[in-house]
Amino acid sequence: MAGDRLSAGQRAGALLPPGAPLAFHLLAKPTGAICNLDCEYCFFLSKESLYPGSDFRMTDDVLAEYLRQLLAAQPRAPEVTVAWQGGEPTLMGLDFFRRAVALAEQVRRPGQRIVHTIQTNGTLLDDDWAGFFAEHGFLVGLSIDGPRALHDAYRVDKGGKPTFDRVLRGLAALRAHGVDWNALTTVHAASADHGREVYRFLRDDCGARYIQFIPIVERQAGPVPVTGRSVTPHGYGRFLIDVFEDWVRSDVGDVYVQMFDVTLANFYGEPPGLCVHSETCGLALALEHTGDLYSCDHFVDQAHLLGNIRERSIADLVGSPEQVSFGLAKRDTLPDYCRRCDVRFACHGGCPKDRFEVTPDGEAGLHYLCPSYQAFFRHVRPAMTEMCDLLRAGRPPAAIRDSYARSDARRGRNDLCGCGSGRKWKRCHGIETAGG
Ligand code: SF4
Ligand code: SF4
Repeated sequence: MAGDRLSAGQRAGALLPPGAPLAFHLLAKPTGAICNLDCEYCFFLSKESLYPGSDFRMTDDVLAEYLRQLLAAQPRAPEVTVAWQGGEPTLMGLDFFRRAVALAEQVRRPGQRIVHTIQTNGTLLDDDWAGFFAEHGFLVGLSIDGPRALHDAYRVDKGGKPTFDRVLRGLAALRAHGVDWNALTTVHAASADHGREVYRFLRDDCGARYIQFIPIVERQAGPVPVTGRSVTPHGYGRFLIDVFEDWVRSDVGDVYVQMFDVTLANFYGEPPGLCVHSETCGLALALEHTGDLYSCDHFVDQAHLLGNIRERSIADLVGSPEQVSFGLAKRDTLPDYCRRCDVRFACHGGCPKDRFEVTPDGEAGLHYLCPSYQAFFRHVRPAMTEMCDLLRAGRPPAAIRDSYARSDARRGRNDLCGCGSGRKWKRCHGIETAGG
């Protein structure tokens, strides 16, 4: 569906029909897990121990081998994404990316279009970076968690200092140069009850038109399975519903929220474009600075090391039996509770990395956020069904805004808001339409 820009390569599952173009998504980490910040919830920082003594910089040899193979492995894909993330990839310096763009041009096949993407914390961006991104059509994923207090709750530097102002300076440079950008916004303990506030800040103050919400689920040892920074099992759903009720009234068709786009695709019966809510996965891999290829960015560990691209080709590793089983396991290890679930077609059990809960009937392997997924997918079912009907009738889903406006006009100011907050309509999502 439109708007799912960063994860375009993550479409479908591992079950590609014979003869279909092999399309996959690689996230390359040129600095490994190294970052200039120390965000409290970041799971990458512990990964530094995987490469003791390394300088954590991708060499030009690995870079050239990576790009050559990436483009050669997808000869029939009209568009190939070259995606960089970290750690913090901008620590490599601008010249590294200049070389990457030039090399990609050299090895590109006729007719192949290259889309360059980079995910960054934004703190090192300036006019030089932004001008470069604009010149080469980079799509920039910028980590920003909301207004100052919510952003700075956990996104701090190595000295524990807040980063909000530095990120906003980076964003200003991107916007001044007209760079295409996407907000990458985590949902955590501090922000879960502020969905609308976060959304409106991104939309109105930052001018975001593409937004990805990422729930923080941070495991810890001991009787409580997650840290206090993690979003609660119900909190993510509340956050999404809060945002959805705003979005569906005024922004459908103008602002792309990945989770809503993905949900609409699943309701419509199209590949959702996000591995987490696809039936199978295994086509979104992670490349370390050394050329080591791992099954997924969330499984960068010895058990999921497929091999090194200097010894075995990317195409081979992506299609290896280990990787195919990794992708199929997402479907095949679903507990029976999920198999019987009325919203399974939209949820598909979530990402296996967070399936550490037990179902009500005692089976292991339920996703930690199941209560959120159930609440969100059930809540949006009528709206998603209506948008699917509009699509089938050849009309834009944005027409749903008119039907919401009509039903809102009949709503009493003191009626309960339909979002489930328990607040009056005039004090909740009707705050503008009801004039309260
Ligand atoms: S909502 Fe819960 S029960 Fe249903 S598929 Fe998702 S994780 Fe499984
Ligand atoms: S393990 Fe999770 S993040 Fe990785 S590809 Fe599968 S669903 Fe996506």
